[in-house]
Amino acid sequence: MNIIETRDISFSYNTKKVLTNVSLFLKQGEFLGIIGPNGAGKSTILRLICGILKPKHGIITISGHETRGIERKQLAKKIAFVPQETHFALNFTIEEIVMMGRFPYLRAFQRENKIDYEARDHALAYTDIQEFRKRPINSLSSGERQRVVLARALAQEPAILILDEPTSHLDLHHQFAIMELLKKLNKEGMSIITVNHDLNLASLYCERLVLLHQGKVFEQGSPKDLITEKIMKQVYQTEVKVIRHPHKDVPHILLNPKGE
Ligand code: ADP
Repeated sequence: MNIIETRDISFSYNTKKVLTNVSLFLKQGEFLGIIGPNGAGKSTILRLICGILKPKHGIITISGHETRGIERKQLAKKIAFVPQETHFALNFTIEEIVMMGRFPYLRAFQRENKIDYEARDHALAYTDIQEFRKRPINSLSSGERQRVVLARALAQEPAILILDEPTSHLDLHHQFAIMELLKKLNKEGMSIITVNHDLNLASLYCERLVLLHQGKVFEQGSPKDLITEKIMKQVYQTEVKVIRHPHKDVPHILLNPKGE
């Protein structure tokens, strides 16, 4: 079953058209990657799927229901979004920020209950940020903040997790840790869409990829179908060497510095 579907989505910021007839799907329990050059429209399609932006044309469904008709809190129980950059106007503690993920379950002025505290603590443990829990957000590095925002999304206990470059500020160890965590969540049943700039990470972790180029779906398929020397040249204008990963049957990109 397709848990998410976008059908013929077009979108413009004012007069600038950034997406044209984008149709894609996420199967229940799937780990989908969206790749493509800068400005291809990857963040925009994620924001449309999460209901932050409204499409000018086309429809988006979640489990067969149009998201347009779903109330914000109801949608947030199903989909959590981890944006690329998050700015906090106030210097909240990590605990407070992760607890904000419980907003779909709380009515106005309602106090958090045991279930909310458990969900928060579970999310803190999962993302390995318990040691920071009492610290103010502005005292953390950007990589640490990225894990806090992921923890806040997990506290929402969503069925679908949508991430915009979750590893962009992370060192190698934390990139690996986050991707392994996503794999674990996926194995436990969470459906995932992630935008990844690092094509080798996308190739290693995503079951299927959608390649966006100039606001359109250029191709979708397995990493083997998409990560080819020909497609990389066509879409990224870059000559690369694609080899088989030594331990997994997926493609791995090597750059070829000029003149060597
Ligand atoms: P990607 O995530 O693939 O880099 P984006 O979805 O962020 O691409 O952006 C697609 C295009 O839309 C880019 O040309 C970008 O400059 C433009 N864009 C993104 N956000 C806005 C905005 N808020 N207002 C105007 N143009 C925007």
